[in-house]
Amino acid sequence: MAAVQRTVIENGAVATVDARDTEYATGHVVIAGNRIESVGAGAAPGGLENVVRRIDASGHLVTPGLVNTHHHFYQWITRGLATDHNLFDWLVALYPTWARIDEEMVRAAANGSLAMMARGGVTTAMDHHYVFPRGTGDLSGAIIGAAREMGVRFTLARGSMDRGESDGGLPPDFAVESLDDALAATEDTVRRHHDPSADAMTQVAVAPCSPFSVSTELLRQGAELARRLGVRLHTHGSETVEEEKFCHELFGMGPTDYFESTGWLGEDVWMAHCVHMNDSDIAAFARTRTGVAHCPSSNARLAAGIARVPDLLAAGVPVGLGVDGTASNESGELHTELRNALLVNRLGAHREAALTARQALRLGTYGGAQVLGRAGQIGSLEPGKLADLVLWRMDTLAHASIADPVAALVLGAAAPVTASFVDGRQIVEDGRLLTADEDAIARATRDEARRLARIATGG
Ligand SMILES: [Zn+2]
Repeated sequence: MAAVQRTVIENGAVATVDARDTEYATGHVVIAGNRIESVGAGAAPGGLENVVRRIDASGHLVTPGLVNTHHHFYQWITRGLATDHNLFDWLVALYPTWARIDEEMVRAAANGSLAMMARGGVTTAMDHHYVFPRGTGDLSGAIIGAAREMGVRFTLARGSMDRGESDGGLPPDFAVESLDDALAATEDTVRRHHDPSADAMTQVAVAPCSPFSVSTELLRQGAELARRLGVRLHTHGSETVEEEKFCHELFGMGPTDYFESTGWLGEDVWMAHCVHMNDSDIAAFARTRTGVAHCPSSNARLAAGIARVPDLLAAGVPVGLGVDGTASNESGELHTELRNALLVNRLGAHREAALTARQALRLGTYGGAQVLGRAGQIGSLEPGKLADLVLWRMDTLAHASIADPVAALVLGAAAPVTASFVDGRQIVEDGRLLTADEDAIARATRDEARRLARIATGG
């Protein structure tokens, strides 16, 4: 058996994001194979064998890799459209275009979304994909293949929509699947791609899109399917006042009560947004350990409101961060969401006490790992965990004069990534991807965006 190879990272500041928020002004991290072997103050332990690489992290902050908990990769090729709309108007404007996507478009968009996040310190990505036009190829396979090739840890949330306009839903009928097709395809995707092991690079979740685009039966049977297969559940919830009104009109109750009635609260569930939550909704999430993906930029872009993150955290609800689809957050970056989460929440009721810089970093790392059900393996720098970590450069013009490196990362300009490791493998060096050609991806996404626009306008 070959001896395990070690990478030693020394001389940098280290924010472990462990349970006690342990930090080292100058510390080390040792990677052995795909796991973290040691983390601590000062230099690495002496006498280590099979050290294949030593990295001098002077002038850097080392953190766990960022974990994205909500995204729609395909939207990478429909950015910059419907820029002054609320959620429902924006959806209605974009559904007809989205319904024309095919496998090549989805592959290009996945590459663009993944590349943008990976070069900004994301080591675990997720894609909530819910548009499956008939006869357009293996979209799930294309997305999973893109993540695998880029070397990013990944959860595909296999989405679905079966409530078209004629059933009182928001999407046009031609953009939805049937209940049976959606369930069968979701089960097939789990069986083909979900890896339940601790080291998994690919996992699959069951993810009907939202209360206003799926039937009650799809929610109910989707929850049963996920629990039968032992995978997690994801959807959108309580995003806007319009959604709240929709639920009251159609179901006679608010979104959280509706989710509870369909089996959609639980420690195996995480939900995007959760902006419009009253105290009893928050208590229900806390009681059931239902997780939340907080997407501050998207919520601002669509004028959805400010999620009550300080109240969710105080109640004990697991909260992670999400980019959300890039048709409602054109930047596509997660490291800037650390800053936006802090700033947006300070505009809410809790003002300056809303979130600290360290809480913002925790949302983007450990909190994300919690809502993806992987807190035992990723999200903090601790011996035995998977080696997903980032070296942020802090000694250039943008950050060199900021006293506290965690404050510099969260409050300062988007920090350059000197190195990013996933599963012990380096995928970013000096802000460039080592596992993909960014320029080729940029060209492909531009071409596919133009092709989609041509098809959508009938040209
Ligand atoms: Zn979303």
